[in-house]
Parts: sequence; structure tokens; C-alpha cells
Amino acid sequence: MARVVFMRWRWGRGLMLAALALIGGLLAWSYYQGWKEEEAIQALSWAVANQVVVVDPGHGGIDSGATGPGGTPEDRVNLAISQRLAEFLTRGGARVFLTRQDENVQEGESGDDLVERVRLAKRVGADLFISIHCNAFDGRERGAQLFYDQKSTEGKKLAEAIQAEIRRRLANTDRVPLSIDALVLRAQKIPAVIVEVGFISNPQEEKLLADDGYQRQMAFAIYAGLVNYLAEKGAGSGAAGPPQRRGP
Ligand SMILES: [Zn+2]
Repeated sequence: MARVVFMRWRWGRGLMLAALALIGGLLAWSYYQGWKEEEAIQALSWAVANQVVVVDPGHGGIDSGATGPGGTPEDRVNLAISQRLAEFLTRGGARVFLTRQDENVQEGESGDDLVERVRLAKRVGADLFISIHCNAFDGRERGAQLFYDQKSTEGKKLAEAIQAEIRRRLANTDRVPLSIDALVLRAQKIPAVIVEVGFISNPQEEKLLADDGYQRQMAFAIYAGLVNYLAEKGAGSGAAGPPQRRGP
């Protein structure tokens, strides 16, 4: 009896160690992959340097936007993702302006916060305008989607670049960008997009959208798309362009 127990214990321990080694290996591998991905984007960050980017967390104030079935308010998700995005952009060397820093919105002289969001972009001489929202429909629709103004070719390109990174990095949507008639897009001459980061009306997606790690991943995917768009365009602090190699 004792011998059997001993054997089982040894087997159990062997299996446990093997499982731990496997989990450890997988964690290290995924960490390494994530690090490599971030490195690849950092290498392109020259494109963001000195760009003026307005990040617009949708809603706020008395308008909290849509509410998830679990009670998550859209305006809070929008703000959290916007702040993460602003961090990545700032680290990349961009000058970033948020249209709101907290739950309060600026209604300014116009008395209309949407008008003020656009005015801020004009006042700071923005190069890009990124508005962050959550979508809401029924409990089944899911996935992030980009929107641009029909008349803006650059807006469409920016939308496609960000959508591509969201599709690739989060691997949970195959949506494509659509044109939409919205004041914050229509009233701008610079490339401007709305990122609907997901459907807060979907219980599973609501949980993801409220999760700090997912918010960070989403913000990084948006950042990566933006970096790719600017690198493609050859933007950035610019004169220098991409770092030049100096001979062999
Ligand atoms: Zn919204």
C-alpha cells in the first residue's frame, strides 16, 4: 500500500514538474513574442516623433455613452484606452492632447463638446485625430471597427492601417473599416478616425473592454496601426526619415 502511494506520489510530482516546465516555457515564449512585436514597432517610432496627435475619449460628463449588460459605462472604457494610447504615443515622441483628462468634458464657448473636440485639434495644429468609442447593438455583435469620413482618402488609409493591426494582434474580429457621417470626422481636414473598440453590448466583449490588460493590448494595436500609417507616409520628425545605416 505504502509503496503504491509512493509510486503515485513520484508520478504525480513528475507530471506536475513537466506541466510547470511546459507552462513556464509557454509563458516565456509568449512574453518573447510580445517583446519582439513591441521591438518591431519601436523600430518604426521615428515616424511618430514630433507628430501632434489628438486622442479623443468619446462621451463623458452627463453623457456616459452606451452601458454594457454588466453595467460598464462606455465613457470609462474610452478614457482608459485613450490614456494608454496617449502613453504609447508620448513614449514614441509624439505630442499628445486628450480632449478630456477625466470624466469631465469641455463645452467651451460653443456649449457643444463635439465642436470643442474639433476646435482643440485645430488650436494645437494636430496632424491626426483619433476618437475612441465602444459600439453597442445586440448581445451577439462583436469586434472592433474603424470609421472614417467618406471624403477623406488619408482618413481611410489610417483607418485601414489601424484595423489591420487590431485584426492581427487581437485576432478576434474580421471587420473592415466603414465610412460614416460624423461631426468629429467631417469637420476636420487632417486624417481623422473613430475607433469603435468593440461592442460593449456583448457580455463577453464587455468583460474584455473593462479589463486592464485588454485595454493595453487594444491601445497598442491602435498605436501600431498609427505608426505603420505614418511610416508608410514617411512622416515624423522627419527630415531624417528612417534611421540611415552607415555602411557595413
Ligand atoms: Zn460612443
